[in-house]
Amino acid sequence: MKEKASIYIFDTNIFLTGIDFNVIEGVIYTTPSIIEEVNDSRYKEKNRNILNKIYAAIEARTLKIKVPKNEYITKISEISKDTGDFNALSDADKGLLAISLELIEEQGENLRIYSNDYTIENVCSELNIPYSSLYKDGIEAKIIWEIYCPYCKKIHRAEDLNKNCEICGLKLRRRPKK
Ligand SMILES: [Zn+2]
Repeated sequence: MKEKASIYIFDTNIFLTGIDFNVIEGVIYTTPSIIEEVNDSRYKEKNRNILNKIYAAIEARTLKIKVPKNEYITKISEISKDTGDFNALSDADKGLLAISLELIEEQGENLRIYSNDYTIENVCSELNIPYSSLYKDGIEAKIIWEIYCPYCKKIHRAEDLNKNCEICGLKLRRRPKK
C-alpha cells in the first residue's frame, strides 16, 4: 500500500488477487456488482477462500458494501463520454467509480481506488481520484504501455503521458501494448 488512505475502494480484480484484508488499516468499500462478479458461479469453487475472506470482512465491518446512487452513475457516464472511456467501462466499473465520487464529495474522505483496470485508471486521473494497481506476482512491471489519443487514436511517445494531443488537444491516455 503506497499512501495511507482511510478508505480503500476495491475492484473485482483486486479481490481476486487474494489480498489479506488484515493488512489494511481503514475501511474497504465495494459495490454489490463487484461481489457478484467474485461470486460468479463459473469460478465459485476456485474463489471459495476469497469469498470466505470477503464474508468474514463484511461481518467484521472492515468491508462495506455500498449501492451506487443514480446521480453519481450519471456523472461517471458523462465524464467517461468526454474522456472516450465510456464504451470500455462496464456497469460494475461505473458503480465503483460512482461510490468513490460520492464518498469524496459528500464526506471528503481520504480515499484510494485499487483496480488493475486501465480504463478505471483513466477516469480516476480525469477526476483526480487517487488510484493504485495491485498485481499478483509483480505483473505490473512487465506491462508495456502505449500512450494514445482517445479521439484521433494517434500513438504518442511514453514521455507524453499527461500531456494533450497536439492534433485534437485531448488528454492522452495509456493502455497495455498488444
Ligand atoms: Zn488526437
